[in-house]
Amino acid sequence: MYGLKPDILVDLPEKYFCLTDYEKVAAKWCPGCGDYAVLGNIQKLCRDEQLDPAKTVFVSGIGCSSRFPHYMKTYGFHGLHGRAFPVASGIKWRRPDLHVFVITGDGDCCAIGAGSWIHAIRFNIDLTVMLFNNEIYGLTKNQTSPTSRMGTVSNTTPRGSVLPPINPMQTTLGVGNVSFVAQTVDWNPPHLYATIQAAHRHKGFSFVHIIQRCPKFQSDLVEQFTAGKDKLYLLTGNEGVELDDVVIKSFDHTVEHDAHNINAARSLAEDPDNIYLGVLYRNTKAQRYDEYGVHNIGYTVEQKMEALNSELNKYAV
Ligand code: SF4
Repeated sequence: MYGLKPDILVDLPEKYFCLTDYEKVAAKWCPGCGDYAVLGNIQKLCRDEQLDPAKTVFVSGIGCSSRFPHYMKTYGFHGLHGRAFPVASGIKWRRPDLHVFVITGDGDCCAIGAGSWIHAIRFNIDLTVMLFNNEIYGLTKNQTSPTSRMGTVSNTTPRGSVLPPINPMQTTLGVGNVSFVAQTVDWNPPHLYATIQAAHRHKGFSFVHIIQRCPKFQSDLVEQFTAGKDKLYLLTGNEGVELDDVVIKSFDHTVEHDAHNINAARSLAEDPDNIYLGVLYRNTKAQRYDEYGVHNIGYTVEQKMEALNSELNKYAV
C-alpha cells in the first residue's frame, strides 16, 4: 500500500457518479433561456446527491422545458401534454426505489394538465416537481398562457389578455394535503440549487415554482425583478434551504417566515406586489398515497393473478 497508514485511507463508494454521468446531448433552447440554468443545477444536484442514473427518472409533458429528459443521461419519459403527473405518480407508486422528477411548464401544468396537477398535490406521492413558469407558450411561438399577466400581447391576445392569471403558488397552497411548496428564480443559481435540493430531500410531493426567463417572447419578465429589485424577498428562518451569507446578503430584502404556518404561506402567495423566494410551506405529516400502494410490490406473477381473480370474483353474478 505504498506505506500509507490505514487511518488516512478514504472510504470511497464503489462507483462515484460525475457530472458527465448525467450530461447527455447539448440542450437546444434559445440563447439566454432560463432552462439552461435549471438543467445545469439539476445535473449538479444529481452528482452531489449521488443519484444512480439507472434509478433516476425525469418525466415531462409538452413545452420548451419539457425537452428536459432528452438532455439527462438518466431514464426519461417525454409524454403527452399535461400528463406528466399521472405518469410520474404511476412510476413512483410501483417503483418507490426510483428518484422521480417532474418537469412541467405553465401551459402544461396550469392549462391542459390542471386536473392532473391538483390531484397529484392531494395524492402527495413522493415526487420532485419543477414548474417552469415563463408566463407564455414558447414552443408554439407566443400564445397567452394561464399565467400570463393581464394585458399580455401575444398571437392569441393581440389586444392584450383580459383575464387575471392563475397564481400557481396560491393554487397549490389551496389544495388539501399539500406537502411542500417553494419558489425560486432561474437567474440566482445558489438559491435555485438550494431550493431544488430541499425539495428533493423532502418526502412527499415537492412543488417548486421557478420563475423562468424566456428572452424570446417574455423579455420584460426579468426586468420587472431586476429593475425593481425590491419586488424580491428572501424568506429566512425556513428550514431546508441552505444558503451561505454571501447569497443572503445579495438580497436587498429578507423576511422571517414560519414554513409550517399555512395561513402565513397563503398570505405571502397572494401578495400581488412582491415575490417571496424560499420554502413557503412544508408539512412532513401529510398523508402519502404511495405509502398505501407498496404492500404487494414483489408479488410473483402467480400471486398477482390470484389477487386479481380474488378481486374480480367479488363482481361475479
Ligand atoms: Fe426558452 Fe422562450 Fe426560447 Fe422556449 S421560446 S427555448 S422558453 S427562450
